[in-house]
Amino acid sequence: MSANPIRPTIPLDGQGKAHGFLRLPYSRNDSAWGSVMIPLTVIANGDGPTALLTGANHGDEYEGPIALQQLAWEIEPQQVSGRVIIVPYLNYPAFRAGTRVSPIDQVNMNRAFPGRPDGTPSQKIANYFNDVLVPMADLVLDYHSGGKTLDFLPYAAAHYLDDKDQQAKCVAAVQAFGAPYTMMMLEIDSVGMFDTAVEEQGKVFVTTELGGGGTATARSAEIAIRGARNVLCHAGILAGEVETADSIMLDMPGDDCFHFATRDGLLHPLVDLGDEVKSGQALARIWPPDRSGVEPVEVTANRDGILAARHFPGLVQSGDCLAVIAVTGEKQG
Ligand code: ZN
Repeated sequence: MSANPIRPTIPLDGQGKAHGFLRLPYSRNDSAWGSVMIPLTVIANGDGPTALLTGANHGDEYEGPIALQQLAWEIEPQQVSGRVIIVPYLNYPAFRAGTRVSPIDQVNMNRAFPGRPDGTPSQKIANYFNDVLVPMADLVLDYHSGGKTLDFLPYAAAHYLDDKDQQAKCVAAVQAFGAPYTMMMLEIDSVGMFDTAVEEQGKVFVTTELGGGGTATARSAEIAIRGARNVLCHAGILAGEVETADSIMLDMPGDDCFHFATRDGLLHPLVDLGDEVKSGQALARIWPPDRSGVEPVEVTANRDGILAARHFPGLVQSGDCLAVIAVTGEKQG
């Protein structure tokens, strides 16, 4: 048994459908022998692969939690060959607070992997997934969206991996997801990510960025639900056919895709998500927050492409990611 103190309140290897919790002991002033109760659903039937589905890795991203609540409610064991482990609210304290990082320890779950069995609550959650749940899984789908500070074109994504056979399996699953855009994603900082931990264990990994602004839309929620069903059908775990949809391939070929603010101020967008931009074109102005009559700072495109992500709040701070430009990519196979 893992040294990690988290225990499921339902069997992870049972047959049928069960709803319970991952119980994380968390002793504190208002609850001496208290716990963090992370909702968990396991749906299993016979032999087959295991899928691990997670939402709210960041607590202010909502498409994943919505899709996973819907699937945990709807999917019946007789539709399943294998096992589906659903955790709609991975960083449960952050989800309850509506914040990106956990209010308990200020840890960003997606920089906490592989975690620590003797660490803070977020580190313990990361460690339980790394050491217990991911090893059980053949396939992991971890949902993200922009949260309160970013907004994305809706895409599912795979990463460039050293193991090209594993990368091809990830890309096939991402294409099965069937989001309007499919991204080969470059990370600013991949150390400590759930993505990296899953990929290093040799698993098929699908992630997403499905919207943002700290809310979901009818359209983005629908993309999330259909995507998870498609990935499960593609893996042979859920009965039925993949519901195919046209998806535009995107690529983030280098660090110059990212554009950062170099001063605080009032954000004046000059292009919107999905717009085509040319190298040198102004993407946004940043007006001074404290006076009128001063020339704004202009942020210009480092390269040709389309605007795939943008800063969401109307005020920016120096260092904020303002824009991400992706390029239309080759179809991966
Ligand atoms: Zn996220």
